[in-house]
Amino acid sequence: MGYQSLFEKQVNQLKEENRYRLFAALERKVGEHPHAIWHSDNGPKDVINWCSNDYLGMGQRKESIQAMTNSAVSHGTGSGGTRNISGTSHAIVSLECELAALHRKERALVFTSGYVANEASISAISALLDEPVIFSDSMNHASIISGIRFGRSEKIVFRHNDVEHLESLLKAQPYKRHKLIIFESVYSMDGDISPIEKIIELAKKYNAMTYLDEVHAVGMYGKEGGGVAQQEGLESEIDILQGTLGKAFGTMGGYIAASDAICDAVRGYGSGFIFTTAMPPPLAAAALSSVKHLRQSQFERESQQRQAKFLKQRLREYGMPFLTGNTHIVPVMVGDAAKCSQISQILLENYGFYIQPINFPTVPKGTERLRITPGPLHNNEMINDLVVGLAKTFEEVNPPSINLSNNGASAASA
Ligand SMILES: *Cc1c(COP(=O)(O)O)cnc(C)c1O
Repeated sequence: MGYQSLFEKQVNQLKEENRYRLFAALERKVGEHPHAIWHSDNGPKDVINWCSNDYLGMGQRKESIQAMTNSAVSHGTGSGGTRNISGTSHAIVSLECELAALHRKERALVFTSGYVANEASISAISALLDEPVIFSDSMNHASIISGIRFGRSEKIVFRHNDVEHLESLLKAQPYKRHKLIIFESVYSMDGDISPIEKIIELAKKYNAMTYLDEVHAVGMYGKEGGGVAQQEGLESEIDILQGTLGKAFGTMGGYIAASDAICDAVRGYGSGFIFTTAMPPPLAAAALSSVKHLRQSQFERESQQRQAKFLKQRLREYGMPFLTGNTHIVPVMVGDAAKCSQISQILLENYGFYIQPINFPTVPKGTERLRITPGPLHNNEMINDLVVGLAKTFEEVNPPSINLSNNGASAASA
């Protein structure tokens, strides 16, 4: 068989399993979020984006755009090298200081994405520990899993958010053995929050370090947008906090915030930190502007929570099946891959609502869903229209009913 037909066969397999991904080409317009133009096969069409990870609309904030533009005009487009070889700009250093202050940590380290931050930091940290064992939540993100693999340490997966299971696994290890517990604060597919305080207690009791991915929380939770650990007053108890600049902060890049010693070690041993071109100054300047803003403004956070509550209230009134994690992420459950794609397509073409279907392997089979992320700029009228459109489409497509009580405990993503 020729090489080309081999790839075609694999792609056909994806199509048969309803896992073939259809990208929607959007054109965003500053000042119009969550509206965007969708460049469909039949020409451009106005749509409302309900699944953006630019959660707070910060990607269109005037001052951040200005910071980016000014920086590009003054300093150019690129960074010119890796951090070690001429790529460390004053802009990156300022951003790292701000992120360290945001999380009340000694230091922060910026990477080119949140994915790279996880992969590089976790692999470096686990490789530096002495024959450690890594405890990983079963719903952890692909970048965490990749970092653990790359670090080549022993890995033990604990059931999602299950502290009793975690404790039984910790207890089975010698007290002195090096241990690292890796988990997230807000889980992006179920929109639920982890028991951070209990996990910290266990870490102390069994001599483990903690690594918390706050990608879906930074900017949105806590007094200054430092995440759920900040909101719960637990920042200082977590050894390594990880975040992204690409979601609520509306730009791109990732980071960890931790002690001097840990950041210095990752700086010196993390392959994904060392061997790649540094973030360009305009991006660092825009991110800095957004982080500074969200440290002192409550408006975006409060409006986001208010609109998420309103959406949940309306969904409840219409009897729609959704997961009720206490966050801004609202997964409406479909439970069938083909029907999930079909509902998404109808919403886009007939209603101008853009919600990407979430199918296996991102979520376990049978829990396919539409993941809605309302933000401060989705007004009540939009939310009303969405819920009416959703209810009509569900009636038309008739997805299987789902047992919502057993969500979230699957190991599929690990
Ligand atoms: C998106 C995501 C990342 C990666 O962040 P990027 O900045 O998009 O690379 C890491 N962890 C979780 C939980 C995520 O959802």
